[in-house]
Amino acid sequence: MDTLHQSQVQTPLIRIRHLQKNYGQFQALDDINLEVRRGEVIALIGPSGSGKSTLVRCINLLEEYDAGVIEVDGIRVANDGNLARVRAEVGMVFQQFNLFPHMSALRNVALAPVRVRGLSWADATARAEALLERVGLKEHQHKRPSQLSGGQQQRVAIARALAMKPELLLFDEPTSALDPEMVEEVLDVIQDIARTGVTLLIVTHEMSFARKVADRVVFMERGRIVEVAPPETFFQCPASERARAFIGTSSRAERRQSA
Ligand code: ADP
Repeated sequence: MDTLHQSQVQTPLIRIRHLQKNYGQFQALDDINLEVRRGEVIALIGPSGSGKSTLVRCINLLEEYDAGVIEVDGIRVANDGNLARVRAEVGMVFQQFNLFPHMSALRNVALAPVRVRGLSWADATARAEALLERVGLKEHQHKRPSQLSGGQQQRVAIARALAMKPELLLFDEPTSALDPEMVEEVLDVIQDIARTGVTLLIVTHEMSFARKVADRVVFMERGRIVEVAPPETFFQCPASERARAFIGTSSRAERRQSA
């Protein structure tokens, strides 16, 4: 392996140092430090309001942060003109699917590669067709979002993010807005993507999914990272009292849901 390639493989894809984010007087992120390797799947979990969404939004520059450093693939994520470079590397899937309502699924997926990457419509459409097939929506590709279920819309949103061939894909509670019967189909698609080597950072309340898919779990509380561990360690013997309490509450809730 040549030196350049070696250093690229060894450099973490995401590097966050002393990140701080305030909303007015309120400190939403407090000294966040995290490195994520290429190809890693990270489940970001923690109680509501702990700062998970704020963290992923800072990585994508949807929020400006107040102090610290974020680098993605060696590019400093900062609001000083490199927004386009950051967005080209980082895809995001939201709780609400944010599809264009007047466009077909196919058009929704093909649009950004044409507008941002300069692909021809023919190439972008071919890529979009393949991606929609991959997320199980080949036969629905000409439908508009309103003609699709929530789970199907979210799968279109995932295909749309993948169409930009991002190095990093951020998911902000991708199944929270879905009816329970549609959660599984979306999680299956994310699990499939996780196997392809794209780096994933997933904010989720689905503990069994986090356990199954993540390489590491990052547990947050009150704007801080409290614990980082492989899922088997985290779920079987969490180091912190806070994580123990959280896992207890979450697994009781999951049992109630599946009962
Ligand atoms: P989580 O994703 O873990 O539920 P968030 O990152 O959404 O948490 O929110 C962290 C904290 O920051 C919460 O207390 C929330 O109320 C607050 N917060 C989030 N967005 C804003 C905003 N735009 N203005 C003010 N406070 C906010």
